[in-house]
Amino acid sequence: MVNMKKRLISIVIPVYNEEENIHDLVERVFSVMAEQHAHYDYELILVDDGSTDNTLKIAVSLQVGHPCMKIIELRRNFGQTPAMAAGFDRARGDVIVPLDGDLQNDPFDIPRLVAKLDEGYDVVSGWRRDRKDKLISRKIPSWIANSVISVITGVRLHDYGCSLKAYHKDVVNTMNLYGDMHRFIPAVASWSGAKVTEMEVNHHPRLKGKTKYGINRTYRVILDLITIKFLGTFSTRPIHVFGGIGLLSMLFGFISAVVMGVMKIMYGTSMNRNPLLVISAMFMMMSVQFLLMGLLAEMLCRTYHESQSKTTYVIRNIYDSPSPKKSDN
Ligand code: UDP
Ligand code: MG
Repeated sequence: MVNMKKRLISIVIPVYNEEENIHDLVERVFSVMAEQHAHYDYELILVDDGSTDNTLKIAVSLQVGHPCMKIIELRRNFGQTPAMAAGFDRARGDVIVPLDGDLQNDPFDIPRLVAKLDEGYDVVSGWRRDRKDKLISRKIPSWIANSVISVITGVRLHDYGCSLKAYHKDVVNTMNLYGDMHRFIPAVASWSGAKVTEMEVNHHPRLKGKTKYGINRTYRVILDLITIKFLGTFSTRPIHVFGGIGLLSMLFGFISAVVMGVMKIMYGTSMNRNPLLVISAMFMMMSVQFLLMGLLAEMLCRTYHESQSKTTYVIRNIYDSPSPKKSDN
């Protein structure tokens, strides 16, 4: 008889001062996943991101009688992405599903996302099509951010910011998260060959507790986007970026010097009163700077990859040839 082992889903929820939501949240996850008992096992990992209210106390009390619930308490408030990463690092599941702890995401969607993932995807990203947030401070910046991120990363998703996603464990295990970067996991994963899709999910207004973010998140998202684009595209060949700018700037400097020379010879224009002299010198100096910076970046990126024994590629699978029937020796 084939022993079909049930797959394990790890649900990871970072919480920061969510004392009013935590009870309903945990109960809802329990009830949704209990219905899935025949199909999946699950573990619930709550990461308390340095809450200063009763979040942790309530969470611990909810743990009684639920061995599948784990709580990770962080020492201080590190932010949503590091909290998520702490949960990911301890998740043992075949599938990993993060979501928000304020009940804006609906635990009801978890099995739907996992079912979609089972169709052969590595990432299923939630799309809050009918998003229940403020228009000016949330929805409009988010529309703009999503289109910019889609264009720059080349991975077309409607809603990068939605925390509710489902990942195959390999996607999460091979990634280190920095800054506010959890929203970029689908893009980075797709660059290394993961199959990414999206799915509409429910969204509810935040009924209790306060949002932890303001409009200033926008600039952090932009800086993170530049960083991942740079690291994703050029981290194995930074000299191509810096060197490219360096060579371009050398060309400008050269053209500027030639024009200046022509002006001097043809029209007798004084060289040291000609602004082109300064422009030319500036571009030439810049070109040297950029080339050297490119070489430094090359050295850094080699150290980076080698010190962590990171490879410059990601393998999906290795097929060994079937072992020979008789041994050769
Ligand atoms: N969160 C966290 N650490 C933080 C900020 C937020 O763990 O420093 C959690 C928060 O408790 C919630 C989720 O991240 O579960 C999303 O936060 P929030 O609802 O405030 O964001 P919004 O939905 O307003 O974008
Ligand atoms: Mg929220």
